[in-house]
Amino acid sequence: MTPVLALRAAGKEYPGGVRALTDVTLTIESGELLAIAGPSGSGKSTLLNLMGTLDHPTSGTIEVSGQDVTALPDRALSALRAREIGFVFQHFHLTDGLTATENVATGLLYAGVPRRRRRPLAEAALERVGLAHRRSHRPHQLSGGEKQRVAIARALVNNPSLVLADEPTGSLDTGTSGAVLSLLRDLHGGGTTVAVITHDREIAAGLPRRVEILDGRIRSDTSRPPGGTA
Ligand code: ADP
Repeated sequence: MTPVLALRAAGKEYPGGVRALTDVTLTIESGELLAIAGPSGSGKSTLLNLMGTLDHPTSGTIEVSGQDVTALPDRALSALRAREIGFVFQHFHLTDGLTATENVATGLLYAGVPRRRRRPLAEAALERVGLAHRRSHRPHQLSGGEKQRVAIARALVNNPSLVLADEPTGSLDTGTSGAVLSLLRDLHGGGTTVAVITHDREIAAGLPRRVEILDGRIRSDTSRPPGGTA
């Protein structure tokens, strides 16, 4: 099967010669739940930006669902991103004046879904994350955990090939973090592909596959034998 994401020897050098990533080869298959873990400064955000097609590598290639995105023009890239990738952020990034349903529906804005279809899809996504009863609430009326569930619903609403969750529990207390992680596990159980980017080793340890990054390189990947090239 075509992987949902394949980075091959991807590198990123920022202007001024900062090498943030070197020779990163990473394949994510449909249905996986993995952690990409590393300390601050290891290159996680840079990798997330490449995986999410928000930035181009300076070397190597990136394929999303079999399509080489390395040389795609911006407009085509935005369309592909809207279709294929859902994002979850540490600080939720919800819009204050909008209800939960309206926030989730924004996940469909750039995917070419007609207006009349957006609300029912958004409501169905809120139901998937257990928040149907909060659909008319605005972000300031929701707890941190509920906000993150709304953000997860927004990431899922278009059935993306891959959900990228950037420190999804970084703003939550321990109990709420556990609930958000168990929601991600449930979604994975239902077939959603999820990559969690985190500096938290404990969170990484609880996920089925762990990729460790240090100094811009992959140091270990539990889906590969140590020292192997597969
Ligand atoms: P992490 O998310 O793991 O903290 P980053 O990807 O943010 O790591 O950073 C990796 C390295 O790249 C660091 O040395 C950082 O200073 C550098 N870096 C990140 N973004 C930029 C940028 N826009 N310009 C120059 N250097 C950067």
